[in-house]
Amino acid sequence: MTAYALYLHIPFCQHRCAYCDFTTYAGQDDKIPAYVGALIREIELVADKKKVAAKSIFFGGGTPSLLAPNQLASVMDALRANFNLMPDAEISLEANPGTVTAAYLRELHEIGFNRISFGVQSAHPDDLLLLERIHDFLEVIQTVHHARQAGFTNLSLDLIFGLPEQSLQRWQETLKQTLNLNPEHLSIYALTIEEGTPFGNWADRGMIPLPDPDLAADMYEWASEFLIESGYVQYEISNWAKPSNLQPSIFQPFYACKHNLQYWHNLPYLGFGAGAHGYANGMRYSNTLGVSKYINALIAKETPIKECDFPLSPAAIYQEKIDTKTEMQETMMLGLRLTQEGVSADTFQARFGHSLKDVFGKEIDELLTLDLLEWVKAAGSKKIRLTSRARILGNQVFHRFVE
Ligand code: SF4
Repeated sequence: MTAYALYLHIPFCQHRCAYCDFTTYAGQDDKIPAYVGALIREIELVADKKKVAAKSIFFGGGTPSLLAPNQLASVMDALRANFNLMPDAEISLEANPGTVTAAYLRELHEIGFNRISFGVQSAHPDDLLLLERIHDFLEVIQTVHHARQAGFTNLSLDLIFGLPEQSLQRWQETLKQTLNLNPEHLSIYALTIEEGTPFGNWADRGMIPLPDPDLAADMYEWASEFLIESGYVQYEISNWAKPSNLQPSIFQPFYACKHNLQYWHNLPYLGFGAGAHGYANGMRYSNTLGVSKYINALIAKETPIKECDFPLSPAAIYQEKIDTKTEMQETMMLGLRLTQEGVSADTFQARFGHSLKDVFGKEIDELLTLDLLEWVKAAGSKKIRLTSRARILGNQVFHRFVE
């Protein structure tokens, strides 16, 4: 049986950043103890004593580092009691550099976390001020140092480019200063201005300039080249990781995020918490967004809706059966994000009993002609993947696989 990835959503932040449209709330920290109790209850209900295998755990947010070590430890205890956690499981936590101390990081390591993803976003004070982040870059340097001292050997740093007023030179400085911290993994995203956020409102009223798409493309291309020169492997459109001498394959560099690879391979995962999504047994589902609604749904202790044997939660408000055709389309859209390994013809055939050529031959041929896709051969298997020029045009490619 396939091993699952487990995602836990922690929807609390000290302050809501101006660009953020994630499911997260500021000023609701008093609900954290009840929320932790609800998470544990949801884990027990969804796991349903089946003890399925789990290959990764990811605490995302929001700001998971707002939870106290004993709260995180109690959730981890529940996960270990209800899932068969693989010995080499990746156990990640997203943290805000402004919210953690050296002692806190030591406790995280003792609880069993082996990877931390820090939301750095920029090294420049003006960018951090505009984004309304609560930290400065000096705190990032200190926090990374403390994480190393605590024993973490797998750190990921998140950055955003294409910010209003951000020059190419300022972005280059951010990336260089971030690489000085020697992270094993980097996630780099272009700013998108979302409706309903303060950024969206300021942009509508002309108070901030919209990001320049040409400049953002230059920033992305410069970062791609600089990171490759610096020894990183781009394994996904927005993600770079260090390889290891122990594992020379560049298709999945050693420090690639195992948890996120599960999403890109379109394999099953369970989501716990307010606003969390899951995909298992051919069903996609998502939970109610509000913290109180989520807690109340779990307090009610209703039996999970048994539309399928496993895994619906009482907090689920949406569920959809994924038919085989949709599963194939999603496998292409997600797998083509993997810039090195793409989608393997053999894996596709084994999973669906049909060849890539039979199902998507027309789309693939068109995209090959446009120099947006290419075939590569590795370990005896053919893989279809984006060409390097298509990495910035990914959405145009993905949509060709969906009617
Ligand atoms: S810390 Fe992250 S999740 Fe929280 S408000 Fe800022 S961007 Fe959103």
